[in-house]
Amino acid sequence: MKKNCKAVWENCLNIIKDNISHQSFKTWFEPIKPIKLDNDVLTIQVPSQFFYEWLEEHFITLLKKTIKKELGNHGRLEYSIIMENTYNNTAPYTIKLPASNIKSTSNPSVTMPIDLNKGSSKEIPNPFIIPGLKKIKVNSQLNENYSFENFIEGDCNRLARSAGFAVASNPGKTAFNPLLIYSNVGLGKTHLAHAIGLEVKTNFPEKIVLYVTSEQFTNQYIDAVRNNSHNDFVHFYQMIDTLIVDDIQFLTKKEKTQEIYFHIFNHLHQNNKQLIITSDKPPVEMEGMNTRLLSRFKWGLSADLQVPDLETRIAIVEKKLYKDGVEIPKDVIEYLAYSITTNIRELEGALISILAQSSLNKKAINLDLAKRMIDKFVKNTSREISIDYIQKVVCDYFGLQLETIHSKTRKREIVQARQLAMYFSKKMTKASLATIGLHCGNKDHATVLHACRTVNNLIETDKQFRNYVEELDKKISL
Ligand code: ADP
Ligand code: MG
Repeated sequence: MKKNCKAVWENCLNIIKDNISHQSFKTWFEPIKPIKLDNDVLTIQVPSQFFYEWLEEHFITLLKKTIKKELGNHGRLEYSIIMENTYNNTAPYTIKLPASNIKSTSNPSVTMPIDLNKGSSKEIPNPFIIPGLKKIKVNSQLNENYSFENFIEGDCNRLARSAGFAVASNPGKTAFNPLLIYSNVGLGKTHLAHAIGLEVKTNFPEKIVLYVTSEQFTNQYIDAVRNNSHNDFVHFYQMIDTLIVDDIQFLTKKEKTQEIYFHIFNHLHQNNKQLIITSDKPPVEMEGMNTRLLSRFKWGLSADLQVPDLETRIAIVEKKLYKDGVEIPKDVIEYLAYSITTNIRELEGALISILAQSSLNKKAINLDLAKRMIDKFVKNTSREISIDYIQKVVCDYFGLQLETIHSKTRKREIVQARQLAMYFSKKMTKASLATIGLHCGNKDHATVLHACRTVNNLIETDKQFRNYVEELDKKISL
């Protein structure tokens, strides 16, 4: 009689259940799905790499005994592992692995967990090297808009720009390794870092480029520690050919994260891989940063971005308008460029507010409108609240996971949270509508405008909703 995989697994579970704690059973065995039984090979699907490692390390003896009992001496177990890659937006994929063949002993440390870091060692053959691991697709997280083409050159950025260009033509092989770009906020560090990454990709399509903010890096590292996948984390970063870490200053005082970055940095540098770092300060002024790491930063080139002069500011505004296919009077452009001098992000923000205002009121853009908007704008720029922060407060308030805001879901409560996040971002940050959209689930500026209107309408008509908004307002402004 042909055995059915579900029934076989069901019997296995009954045995397993009697041999381990209820908690372990719930945690490690309930999420498993039997998917195939073929020639006495039972394939079970496990939700992640970590799961697989854990089963192999802690339950392999029990699993093997149970399989033998159910399927006889020829019985074997195979895993189908759902691989999820945080850096990879594409759907999870599965890999198949046979269960361990190592004779299990009572000492669990003898069973070898998968070790992505080392590969096989001579003394103990490691059967768990995943073939083709190098082919993991890495989403480089580069923003196509932040290209060299869109980056206006001026005296303010000439050195950094040309160093960046040189690096992109010859990554890892110039003296500019690492290339550290520093400046105050809103002067183009992130843009330039992306531009270099994009250019490397254009010149060397086979190279793996990765852009991460130091916050992402930190969070991934914390997760890795929590999930016991520290090695996977390091291994992943060691595969990168051009690693861009944005806003490194957020690593100050995070000693463990600095250490791991130091480790990765050294590995990449030794292998002639390119490192790019941005920071709000030059290395000499970075406090709370590991001195060994600081000395590494000084190995390459540190180039700063200065405040752009008037001509460059005008050119930047014009470029932006041209790209968006919008025309506005020259005197308005000049007024803008005159008024907002120290931060290009603010300059863009003001421009977008003017565009938004004119489309909302269906009025032509003229100097008068520009003046009114900029008055508001420049006055409101004393404090910086970030979009990320707003999202966090909104999600906490409604008990939602932060990721849901970035997802495509149309669930009412999530749509509402997303709209509120957009509304407050518009109200409390200098971010452009486009930027806000990008950060709130990759939406366009029209969606953000719509969200702001919806929220305003609801404030007028729905008392409960108005309470939410008032409470949130307080929480965010605190
Ligand atoms: P930072 O990372 O230094 O805070 P960003 O790279 O985020 O600054 O730049 C802020 C905004 O200014 C971005 O929208 C960017 O495209 C724009 N920007 C900065 N420098 C330039 C430039 N030289 N040419 C065109 N746009 C620029
Ligand atoms: Mg930046």
